[in-house]
Amino acid sequence: VLKDYVNGFPKESDMLINDSATINLKLQEGSNVVLVKNLYLSCDPYMRGRMSKSQGSYVDSYTPGSVGILGMPGMTAYAGFYEICAPKKGEYVFVSAASGAVGQFAKLSGCYVVGSAGTKEKVDLLKNKFGYDETFNYKEEQDLEATLKRDGIDIYFENVGGKMLEVVLANMRLNGRISACGMISQYNLEQGDGVRNLFHIITKSVRMQGFMVTDYFHMYPKYMEMIMPLIKQGEICYIEDVAEGLASAPAALVGLFSGRNVGKQVVVVTRE
Ligand code: NDP
Repeated sequence: VLKDYVNGFPKESDMLINDSATINLKLQEGSNVVLVKNLYLSCDPYMRGRMSKSQGSYVDSYTPGSVGILGMPGMTAYAGFYEICAPKKGEYVFVSAASGAVGQFAKLSGCYVVGSAGTKEKVDLLKNKFGYDETFNYKEEQDLEATLKRDGIDIYFENVGGKMLEVVLANMRLNGRISACGMISQYNLEQGDGVRNLFHIITKSVRMQGFMVTDYFHMYPKYMEMIMPLIKQGEICYIEDVAEGLASAPAALVGLFSGRNVGKQVVVVTRE
């Protein structure tokens, strides 16, 4: 449970375990209400926006003391990549904070995919498990602009914003597309960084589009139809970072903002 609204970087002590928190449901016959037992919790970066009173985030703020529910990362990757980027075989794709599912969609589309992450372990996973064509650790690059130069970028799946977005803009190809999914580098700032290089959007006819996964929930059946066979055939793999017990939830959530998680962060509430 969130104690109070947060300024800057969130801390474990911003949250507390409250055994007595209950949701008031009217479980009466014919009330169309079901009661579920919560086995797993999801930790997602968007929750940071909800921990501020008003941050111009893409979701409403939490009410301190109240209980929160579910996120939808795979569907986000699907909608953000296919619907916004309209990928074509052979295009050059760059994904930041790439240890999610997006780059795999890019590989399935026959694109050349470059991904960045913040640790050696994640970079190795991108290359060896997820099949990225090229990878780099953005924290170790002295000259990010030169690192991203290569052959230019047709599609950028934007997860971090800030400096990374600036250098990507300078390296976009003509008629490129940017899917603005998230900007995690900005979530703990009182005021966002100014972004340079926006003029490239004009000169290279780049289309940059933000989106909210909630606007694409109607596509969920189509997404499931595509993703389920791919998972069963091993064409899509996923990594979960599993924190044990409800008491580990605050640390798991805070860890997203320093990159402590490797893969999708979940919390096991109970295995029974
Ligand atoms: P991840 O599991 O990728 O966890 C976040 C990762 O971001 C960290 O592990 C860390 O990896 C990286 N990171 C943290 N701080 C920074 C920073 N300052 N600069 C660069 N990278 C940083 O998260 P998700 O896959 O769940 O989410 C990815 C993005 O998608 C987020 O921005 C999120 O807000 C957005 N999102 C948007 C939705 C929408 O509807 N538009 C819905 C769901 C998510 P590393 O070690 O590589 O630094």
